[in-house]
Amino acid sequence: MKLWVTEKQTPDLSLLIRTTATLFRKSSNHQNILIVDTPQYGKVLLLDNKFQTTDMDEFIYHEMIAHVPLYSHPAPSKVLVIGGGDGGTVREVLKHQSVDLVELAEIDRDVVEASKKYFPHLSSGFSDHRCKIIIADGVTYIKNMAGSYDIIIVDSTDPIGPAANLFTEDFYTAAYASLRANGILVSQTESPFLHTDFIVKTNRTLSAIFPIVRLYLAPIPTYPSGLWSFTVGSKKYDPSVPSRKGAIATKYYTPEIHKASFVLPRFLEDAIRTNKAI
Ligand code: SAM
Repeated sequence: MKLWVTEKQTPDLSLLIRTTATLFRKSSNHQNILIVDTPQYGKVLLLDNKFQTTDMDEFIYHEMIAHVPLYSHPAPSKVLVIGGGDGGTVREVLKHQSVDLVELAEIDRDVVEASKKYFPHLSSGFSDHRCKIIIADGVTYIKNMAGSYDIIIVDSTDPIGPAANLFTEDFYTAAYASLRANGILVSQTESPFLHTDFIVKTNRTLSAIFPIVRLYLAPIPTYPSGLWSFTVGSKKYDPSVPSRKGAIATKYYTPEIHKASFVLPRFLEDAIRTNKAI
């Protein structure tokens, strides 16, 4: 018998992946966690029936959410990752030698524990002495952290359930306060095709708080529509240009991809300029 996992990406669109084994299933205090093995994408993590990460395409998302903000900063030393319990973003952050502390504020301990067991190549940074794991709601955690971080990375689930408050004006205001004078915030901001309204709204909210706000894109095959967006709020540095050279090992990120990822298709440029989805 062939078993498949499905993510209903919109009421009219699903992604279906054939599985060969169910490796882990748990209803945690926050969500349903499922890890399956698949011929197409290797091991796959789902939270509440939504694809979060896969062995095959995880490198694109994790490299792009980490290296774009980190390379935009000349010397990032203290980094906060909110969400990101699979560990892929922490792994990439730790490749930067200037980083002496990365804190992971993840609401669900069970995601961290499952990743340690089933995704050791993602969670490898958890045992690094520069990594500190805090099991907490990111919204609460940053409240008393004024002036603490060079970079904040919001590597969250979709803006519903426990992640909804990570996309509010209150959260972004607190995040701005938690950044050092030249700090940079980046957040995953969903699909340019399916969630244009959400991207425009986030851009507007961040623009009222940060002097520099920019959007960049990367292809993620298993996310809805296959194209994903990230929104950056920066206090000083232009996030679309790497501010230093590096020699770290990557599979997707290059300095050229960094710059190119900020080149937007016309419909998105227009949506942001006119403040409405077209
Ligand atoms: N790359 C993924 C994506 O875009 O689909 C995100 C992966 S990561 C596993 C997302 C994590 O965010 C989950 O483990 C979830 O528990 C965590 N999360 C959701 N809301 C949170 C909150 N308010 N504070 C901290 N972590 C949160």
